[in-house]
Amino acid sequence: MCGIVGFIGAQQAAPILLDGLQRLEYRGYDSAGLAVYDSARGLQLAKAKGRLHVLSELVDGGAKLAGTAGVGHTRWATHGEPSDTNSHPHLSDSGRIAVVHNGIIENYMEIKEYLQGKGMVFHSDTDTEVVAQLLEYYYEDDLVEATFKVLHRIEGSYALGILCADHPDQLIAVRKDSPLVLGYGEGCSFLASDVTALIKYTKTVSYMEDGELAILTRDGIQVYDSLLQPVEKERTTVDWDISDAEKGGYEHFMFKEIMEQPEALRKAVSPRIQNGRVVLENLTLEPDFLRRLSRLYIVACGSSYHVGVVGKYLLERLLRKPVEVALASEFRYSEPLVDENSLVIVISQSGETLDTMAALREAKRLGGRILSIVNVVGSSIARESDQVLYTWAGPEIAVATTKAYSTQMAVVDLLALYFGKILGTVEESEYHAVLDEMLLLPGKMEAILSNKDDIQYFASQYFNHDSVFFIGRNVDYALGLEGSLTLKEISYIHSEAYASGELKHGTISLIEDGTLVVALGTYGKLFDKAMANVLEVRSRGADVLALTTENRRADMEKNANAVITIPETHDMLLPSLGVVPLQLFAYYVALMRGCDIDKPRNLAKSVTVE
Ligand code: GLU
Repeated sequence: MCGIVGFIGAQQAAPILLDGLQRLEYRGYDSAGLAVYDSARGLQLAKAKGRLHVLSELVDGGAKLAGTAGVGHTRWATHGEPSDTNSHPHLSDSGRIAVVHNGIIENYMEIKEYLQGKGMVFHSDTDTEVVAQLLEYYYEDDLVEATFKVLHRIEGSYALGILCADHPDQLIAVRKDSPLVLGYGEGCSFLASDVTALIKYTKTVSYMEDGELAILTRDGIQVYDSLLQPVEKERTTVDWDISDAEKGGYEHFMFKEIMEQPEALRKAVSPRIQNGRVVLENLTLEPDFLRRLSRLYIVACGSSYHVGVVGKYLLERLLRKPVEVALASEFRYSEPLVDENSLVIVISQSGETLDTMAALREAKRLGGRILSIVNVVGSSIARESDQVLYTWAGPEIAVATTKAYSTQMAVVDLLALYFGKILGTVEESEYHAVLDEMLLLPGKMEAILSNKDDIQYFASQYFNHDSVFFIGRNVDYALGLEGSLTLKEISYIHSEAYASGELKHGTISLIEDGTLVVALGTYGKLFDKAMANVLEVRSRGADVLALTTENRRADMEKNANAVITIPETHDMLLPSLGVVPLQLFAYYVALMRGCDIDKPRNLAKSVTVE
């Protein structure tokens, strides 16, 4: 799940490649590298373990590498430890062909042994190097032909950028199960894993499909299908602005993105509520299909899965139909009971999450209808779904999700109301009550954000705990899952979320003097039960930081050590507000522990490997 960039034009390539990589660094950041061709110097390589700035210093911001065509890579290692040697680009034996790769070549071992048997010498531990070597093996003088031969031999997932010293006026790009975007400039062409790397240079892009091969030259880009027939690619204009992908004065992207949530929510919700009704653009699910629905699935990974856990409560309540929430990585191998009467809601910020994509394909194979909720327009999941609802959150750069979670949640809320209306299972009064409240959510979120100093204070009290438990019931349990994940991923504190009723089936034995318990008690119907659980852990020595609504502050203060509140709202929408203080808490705790907030260790933003 690395980042790839490619450039061919009139300007010096290396600074442009480094700039693009910097915007892709969220995808992988254990090492980086560039290969640039110059007629006087040939193919030049620069690679360095560590963050991008290490590479950038090595090549003096790109100034040291002459040449106007090149490829770059920021890596998230899957095969072979992060090291200078294992960094991409990888060269073929003769040094004529350079390759950058995102994904995994599953049969690399077999190919490597085969080529070693033919006398080829390998230098790295990566799977990627076999692509460079195999290209060399098949190459006579036609690089495209050699590339097609390679594609027939390799198995797995890949986005590849290829530069060959014998054909310095072109770059070749191919993909299968890993994203690649082509960018059209004036006298130049671009290649990238993600549009954020390109928007500074061009807003006209095409998204490559699996099996396609693109030849990029200074005069344009020609794409071919797997039978080598030319393909007329649709060109899309990206409406994201470069400032959306920059920090804009904030110390961290995560903080910027937390603060952007009210605006993101407005954009996701307001256009979809018209004259007191939910209007979902381009959604064409016939009412008959909805009535026939035997079961809904929500399939996702990580925080998107947590949105699904909240979604299950809402959808079952409003539709009176069974909803199953599944982790995509489990779903795809679980022989799911999907058929033509199933709707599978797939949620992914990037739209490129490999497990989610595989689950989508499995569900489709079984006859299910796919509705995806995705942030990145034109991403693979969006393109392969029957129906798409975009979250319109703008680029999310920090690894820990904030505005993507909030907007996904809002889209699920709208969907639940929309379906409930068609099925006649949601009461008119509840429908309007929820809609009215949805329009108020951004303002209420702003109120929470304006009290961020309180949360910073609580973080200062608790940041040195080693282990934290989040407890809650119903939507508060779902909220706890997300709060706990955000905290652990960026602060490296061990943290677990428990349904409060489960405490006495095991977890409570871990509660001792000073254990931090974050007790979530926003859900009014079960507030008394939440209080009982607070008392249960307090009496065993826990320090309780509680989250509840403003009206219940006084009650909660009687038992918890510290209380954070959120404004009152409809109980279906509580997680949308409750998540904000939990994000801030995680952020400040990580800040106080000196963690690398936007790029936590071992993680990457877009998980395009299994
Ligand atoms: N499998 C390749 C490697 O480990 C590429 C990983 C990536 O996508 O960054 O080098």
